[in-house]
Amino acid sequence: MSDVRNVIIIGSGPAGYTAALYTARASLKPLVFEGAVTAGGALMNTTEVENFPGFRDGIMGPELMDNMRAQAERFGAELVPDDVVSVDLTGEIKTVTDAAGTVHRAKAVIVATGSQHRKLGLPNEDALTGRGVSWCATCDGFFFKDQDIAVVGGGDTAMEEATFLSRFAKSVTVIHRRDTLRASKAMQERAFADPKITFIWDSEVAEIQGDQKLSGLKLRNVKTGELSDLAVTGLFIAIGHDPRTELFKGQLELDEEGYLKVDSPSTRTNIPGVFAAGDVVDHTYRQAITAAGTGCAAALDAERYLAAAT
Ligand code: FAD
Repeated sequence: MSDVRNVIIIGSGPAGYTAALYTARASLKPLVFEGAVTAGGALMNTTEVENFPGFRDGIMGPELMDNMRAQAERFGAELVPDDVVSVDLTGEIKTVTDAAGTVHRAKAVIVATGSQHRKLGLPNEDALTGRGVSWCATCDGFFFKDQDIAVVGGGDTAMEEATFLSRFAKSVTVIHRRDTLRASKAMQERAFADPKITFIWDSEVAEIQGDQKLSGLKLRNVKTGELSDLAVTGLFIAIGHDPRTELFKGQLELDEEGYLKVDSPSTRTNIPGVFAAGDVVDHTYRQAITAAGTGCAAALDAERYLAAAT
């Protein structure tokens, strides 16, 4: 059994590394579990990030995350590229067990495990991510100026992405498996009224085509089985996200979509000494800068909690 730490951070995206930086600079010597395969978080899978403040000419996602990691390490954060496999957060001293079975103890825990976008499950989907395939219009829309783009999905996010993209794109085609949308009435009306947006109903993407860059899609009509081609250079997949909250079920309160609930605007969860930040909480903004912002807030909340407890 290890000594009792001040704070353990689970997660290594912008939220986790920012929480690590702040708690390290507050001399709390954080222990950070980065994840075995996905250390660095969602931005490790992207190319250019143009909207993180401070980088006038943009920065590659992995480089931005390496910088955040090194900055946290510089102030004494202890970073471990391992998964956390179970937690007991209920007591005053929390326990966190890693994949090797070692139990780590801490007075405070910051959860920053992020969320996973739902995939179509097609070959080429990962290979062409950042090369025409995207999960975030706010992040990547600007790269698709005057191009033909497709959006997959029928909910609020898909309609929001389509309407946002129509500002830049030559055309936006929404591909939806059904013949009606799940999106709210207001969002639907906005999309229907947009002259750049057209809809292909009852259809799914059967193939994502392209070698180094996306060149087009093969679509399948789910009712007739008929195949057709759609020439697009952008594909935005907006079929939902799954927050990584499996570990915390039964201990931390989740909302109806499975995201961690916090006592907003603080990052306090329902358990004293446990704080949550980034996309594991946020289903609205989902940006690197907002994740970093709440990571900072979680570190300050944890710092104050620890100060009050001594
Ligand atoms: P994440 O970045 O998802 O990091 C969480 C990490 O926690 C995981 O990756 C993993 O390493 C770790 N983890 C999870 N579970 C465990 C566990 N059990 N044990 C240990 N570790 C664990 N946003 C922008 O602002 N600009 C952009 O240009 C941009 N481009 C994007 C491009 C792509 C392809 C994607 C997918 C997202 C993009 N985003 C962009 C969104 C942005 O990446 C996210 O909003 C942000 O990374 C969320 O940060 P986070 O720290 O909450 O979580």
